[in-house]
Amino acid sequence: MEEEEAPSSPSTNPTMANDRAVRSDKEDDAAESRLKKAHKAHAEEESAKWRECYMLGNAIKDNGFQDACIDLAQEKMISESGKIMDLVKCIYEAKSTWSERRKFVVDTAAHLWKGEAFEWVRCENYHRDFLEDMMKYVGPKMRKEILKRQFAAAFFRDAGCKYHDHNRRGDCYKETHPAYKSGEKGK
Ligand SMILES: [Zn+2]
Repeated sequence: MEEEEAPSSPSTNPTMANDRAVRSDKEDDAAESRLKKAHKAHAEEESAKWRECYMLGNAIKDNGFQDACIDLAQEKMISESGKIMDLVKCIYEAKSTWSERRKFVVDTAAHLWKGEAFEWVRCENYHRDFLEDMMKYVGPKMRKEILKRQFAAAFFRDAGCKYHDHNRRGDCYKETHPAYKSGEKGK
């Protein structure tokens, strides 16, 4: 509801200053919506690229590469606070069994999603397995604690290999991949 204003004479016209203020507000709004659109387009493009990489890793069965994609998704969420990046669709479609990656999606949804992100779960073709996994995770927890939304940076701080599937020998790509080995990164 609008705030009530003291009654004033009905013939009062906006002054020119007011007019300018209204116009510049409109300009600000337009600029803001252009910026938002550009942001959204950029995010969608990045999401699409991420999805391509992840699915490529899936097609060539390269767990290390997919683990690296998971780490990248974490970094994105930390730097851009809560981007979804199509994780549910991608990860649930790529693998039909429970894995650390599915845990990653469930944790992300339960702890990091903003309220409006949950609107998506009402879509007709939303992944059923995800909804079941979410319920399994959230249900028992709700009896003991309140699930507050957290910041990605704090939530993933000590994630380490928590969401990695690793390769068949159990090695982390950070230990075996030359790009990481040489720089002793992540060790
Ligand atoms: Zn690892």
